[in-house]
Parts: sequence; C-alpha cells; structure tokens
Amino acid sequence: MGFVMTESSGPLSQKLFSTAKQYIPGGVNSPVRAFRSVGGEPFFARRAKGARVWDVDGKDYIDYVGTWGPAILGHAPISVIEAVHTAAKDGVSFGIPNPYEVEMARLVCEWVPSVQKVRMCNSGTEATMSCVRLARGFTGRDRIIKFDGCYHGHVDALLVAAGSGALTNGKPDSAGIPASYAGLTTVLPYNDVEALERTFAEVGHEVAAIIVESYPANAGLILPQPGYLQKLREITQKHGALLIFDEVMTGFRLAKGGVQELENITPDLTAMGKVIGGGLPVGAFGGRADIMDLLAPDGPVYQAGTLSGNPLAMAAGLAQLREMEKQNGYARLDELGKIMDSAVAEVLKKTGKEYQYYRKGSMFCLFFTSKQVHNLGDAKTSDIPAFRKFFHSCLKQGVYFAPSQFETGFISLAHSADDLARTAEVVQQALSEA
Ligand SMILES: *Cc1c(COP(=O)(O)O)cnc(C)c1O
Repeated sequence: MGFVMTESSGPLSQKLFSTAKQYIPGGVNSPVRAFRSVGGEPFFARRAKGARVWDVDGKDYIDYVGTWGPAILGHAPISVIEAVHTAAKDGVSFGIPNPYEVEMARLVCEWVPSVQKVRMCNSGTEATMSCVRLARGFTGRDRIIKFDGCYHGHVDALLVAAGSGALTNGKPDSAGIPASYAGLTTVLPYNDVEALERTFAEVGHEVAAIIVESYPANAGLILPQPGYLQKLREITQKHGALLIFDEVMTGFRLAKGGVQELENITPDLTAMGKVIGGGLPVGAFGGRADIMDLLAPDGPVYQAGTLSGNPLAMAAGLAQLREMEKQNGYARLDELGKIMDSAVAEVLKKTGKEYQYYRKGSMFCLFFTSKQVHNLGDAKTSDIPAFRKFFHSCLKQGVYFAPSQFETGFISLAHSADDLARTAEVVQQALSEA
C-alpha cells in the first residue's frame, strides 16, 4: 500500500506491461486480463495468498476473481502446495498411467451424479471441444445448439455469441473460423422455451447436442427460470440429441456434484475444469459410459493429451477437493454468500441504486441495470460506463473485481467476515461515485 495512483497500475506493472506488449500479443496470454473493457492497464501479480493478491508494486487487493474460478480455498492453500511438492519429488510428468489419475477419476465419478466414466485433459476448452466431438460421433449428427452469452472456451464451433471475453472485445465471433463450420452451430437466447421448441421442430433431427453453461457465468451470472434446465433435458431426449452441461465454472464450486446435483438433472456429458485442478491447468469431461466408451483407444472418436492426467495437476486437484470436503466448504461458502447478500442489499439501499444482484453459493454478480437479467440481452442493458468507474474506484481502494461487467465474482473459503465488511465499505463508496 502507500502511493496514490492515478493509473490503474503502479510503475513496475506499467514497465512490465510495456515490455509484455513487445513480445506477447496485447501483452497478455488471455484477452480478458488486458483490462480492455474497463480501460487502463492491468497490474502484475507478485504473490497471492488466501483472499489477497499483491502486485509487483507492493499494493494488495482483496480478490474476488480467484484466478477466474479455480481458487475456491483461497490462493496458495497449504494442502495444495504440499500435495504438489510431494508429487513433484517423484517426477513432474510421466506420460505413463499413474495412481493419481485413477484416484481423481474415482472421485469425480463418486461426486458427479451423471459421470460414469471420465477423461482428464488440460483445460476447459479441451473438455468442451471433446464433448462436442463425442456428441457428434455418438449421434452421427453435426448440429450443435448453444446459447447467447454462454462461453465454452475458444472452441471453433462454440465461439459464436460467446460471452465476456468476446463480448467486451466487441467481437462476438472470431476471425479464422470458417463460416461453414460456425454454420453448424445454432445460437438461441437462454431461458427462452419458445425459441427452443421452434428450433427443435425445424431441425431437431440434425441436432447432435445442446451445450449449455448450466448456470451461465460468463455474461455476468444468469440463473435458469424454474423448469428451464428440465426442459432442455426433455427436448434433447425426445429428439435423440445429447445434453452437455458445461460445468467448467460451476462444477465442484457450487456443490460436490455441481449444478446437476442442485437441480437434479442428469446430462449425458459434462465438461469440467477450473476448481478441479486446484489452480493447475486441468480440464475433464465425462458422462454416460456408453458414450464415453466411443473414445479412443476403445472407440472411433479420437482424443489425446501429452500432459493429460499429469501427476502434479491431479495431486493439486485432489488436495483441493478433499480439503473442500473436510472443511464442509460448500455450506461455509453459502454462509459467506449470505453475509454478502445482506451487505449488498444494505449498500444498494443506502446508495439508492436499483441494480440487479444475483448469487448462488460462492458465485455472485451485480448488474448495473434495473432490469431483471434472464438472458444476454438483459445483461447488456447494464450501464457500462458506470461499471468502469466503479471497477477502478474499487481497485484503487484495494478490492479487485473482474475487469468486466460480464463476469461472475467468486468468494473463497479464505474470505473472512472482515474482508466482506471492508469490501462493503469500498463498494458503497465506489457506487456512490459511479
Ligand atoms: C473458463 C470456462 C471454459 C474454458 O476453460 P479454459 O480452461 O479457460 O479453457 C469453458 N466453459 C466455461 C463455462 C468456463 O467458465
């Protein structure tokens, strides 16, 4: 702490960013990190522990980004560090089957109700990409249905109307994706049963799968209307299509079994990532055994990975998940969430803002709009200039929210009641200025 900043980042961060821009496109290895949607420049992290991140200039922040989801215990938990250390001493990668991956697969099948078999990979993107390929291989059909604002990683077929990163760059689609390929993806508004029924009536026989973020969390946080997810399950079943839940964000974060456990829905395939890797690069996908058995080497759908099931990554993920269980983490996070609910309600009342606030477990979003948010169109009614001011004002006062309106915030087990109280103060001041 110490210096007064007029920029969003201190001098060392600025220097690093200017060098980074010479060698890395946009200066970042993932676009949302560049602060484009809020303006200014990103700070560079030196260290993170618990609920806090320290930048290279020595300023510290209460962090609600949590490395974009994985850090559910908080940053650098002892249990995860020790597990990685122990595993590393025996070798950092084998490319030969190892006991950790068997244990991880057993745990995933035990925790996630619909998963009978699972394969590990290295990112959420790989997981959703493999789900799509499997669904096409299984059904012999090509068309995929996705929803406006749902992000499923940077998979060609899924990078259509794809939420935060794409949205805030003002490029809903990406260059480099053949139109004929993207044409196999139908995009529908989320929470719209009529559009769903119309589409299935027209092209239901072509549909390999619906892929959906079970709770869309890459366009802010959007919750399903009662019965909507059930409807997705029914209509896919009726038309011989598969239902893919993308639980990369929600899996192991909202409950042991993710949204499918909370909502009592059984998808055919599930994509996982983020929390499952304990902060290391991990993804996973799994589901019905008869579908998963189509994967090579048993079946004709090819999928592979040099580092998949990596011992360090498996050890980190297992340690994190076991720690969540041991600490009764999901219930505790919900308690912290309830504290946040009352703080937000009070702050909104005091500042007279009629903004929409949504929370599920440890995930939350404050939309800068008075309109209820049920889909991307609603989310886009948010007052973006006001959000930008709010973001920078919070950052300056040491509270780090994601640098975009269209992101979800995360509470971790390391956030204390004091952290939440301090955050409420900062938010109140920032909102009254914005
Ligand atoms: C983050 C995310 C992905 C992509 O995961 P990566 O590990 O970044 O490739 C896919 N789907 C959802 C819902 C996500 O939140």
